[in-house]
Amino acid sequence: MNTQIAFLLQVILAFMGAYLVAFWFAMVIWTYYDIRARSQDTYVYVFATALVLVFHVFGLLLYYILRPRETLAEAYERSLEEEALLREMDARHVCPACQQRVEQDFLLCPHCRQQLKRKCAQCDHMLDLNWDICPYCGRTPDTGPRTKPRRPVSAESEQSGQRVR
Ligand SMILES: [Zn+2]
Ligand SMILES: [Zn+2]
Repeated sequence: MNTQIAFLLQVILAFMGAYLVAFWFAMVIWTYYDIRARSQDTYVYVFATALVLVFHVFGLLLYYILRPRETLAEAYERSLEEEALLREMDARHVCPACQQRVEQDFLLCPHCRQQLKRKCAQCDHMLDLNWDICPYCGRTPDTGPRTKPRRPVSAESEQSGQRVR
């Protein structure tokens, strides 16, 4: 009777031991794949995996605390989002004088009449006020509004309906 119980106990212990080893193994594998998703540094791979290999659950706990917060995919996605946000902010133009929103192809600010762009006299493309030459046709502008960019141009009659991009 006693030997039977001892045998049973031994079997249970053996199973538990086998499970612990399998668990350990799984933890090491998981750590390896997890750190691969978060870092590109081979030393970091080795360190993280060794941590779990040596310290078992406690190593995993340490790894969990120390591991990079973002996976590489997440970091990449975040950088894309930030870039898109920046581009969007860049696209939202404001009048330098009154800070109101204006469209990119406005000649004048509709709020304060500040001149924002001028037209090339030759090809009618929109030009920045500080451009010395028309990038579309190569015409060097005559000294017009460019020298006095703050002058509120009120009656430039040729600003009809064409959109130039
Ligand atoms: Zn304005
Ligand atoms: Zn031009």
